[in-house]
Amino acid sequence: MTDLDVKPGTVADGVPHDLVRLVREHSRATVEGDNRTVLDDFRPDRIGQLIRMAKLPPNLVSSELLNIAPEGNGIVAAVTRYMAADGTGTVLRARWIEIPKGWVVTEVRNLPDTPPQMADTGPAEDGLDTPFWEGLRVGELRVPQCEGCENFVWPPRPICPRCHRFALTWTPVEPTGTIYSWTRTWQPFTPEFSGHLPFVTVVAELPQAGNRRLLGVLLDADGVDPKIGQGVRAEIEPPWSPEGWPVLRWRLT
Ligand SMILES: [Zn+2]
Repeated sequence: MTDLDVKPGTVADGVPHDLVRLVREHSRATVEGDNRTVLDDFRPDRIGQLIRMAKLPPNLVSSELLNIAPEGNGIVAAVTRYMAADGTGTVLRARWIEIPKGWVVTEVRNLPDTPPQMADTGPAEDGLDTPFWEGLRVGELRVPQCEGCENFVWPPRPICPRCHRFALTWTPVEPTGTIYSWTRTWQPFTPEFSGHLPFVTVVAELPQAGNRRLLGVLLDADGVDPKIGQGVRAEIEPPWSPEGWPVLRWRLT
């Protein structure tokens, strides 16, 4: 143990000792529910975002600094494990920067990076996309295709926009594509996002489905900046509740 009471190797070269002390005090305040101290450590212009970005269980009993290291651009990342009374551990990574008032948290996230699970996932009320969800249940990516002109249609609709036939069938397609566009979400717009921020959403273009574009969360995207045109492959995440639906996710290939 060092004078900072952390395991050897935990603190990388170049990390100021006063920051290590501050990080550990911050973790202690988090465990003790001392919200005034916790909020005072947050970057003032991001408090609303930071409060709900990460998720910790109630009844925390202890914290342990796992490592702290500079990341460049003046940022220092601290990874801390929080233990709850029930014996479960939750790991958070906080990124600290120095501003005139001192070191503050500018970003925080749960590790590992896991995608958000939305409560209202599943078929729309009009039922137009139900076969898509049923396809996921059997491990298939299905896209509606016109029986007349073979045009692929997305989002689902009752009529082919090209030849105006009402005859559409759901065709299984190879679940691969290329990134048409993407964005990283930092804001906890809904409570379900907490613990999963930031995450990356991609619009993937499917060449085998007439270049129709499907939206989905990109897996393992922490610190990754995807490139337009990069290949992705769909993965089907099983339902997270018995009455739920599987979800389409994307992964870089
Ligand atoms: Zn058609």
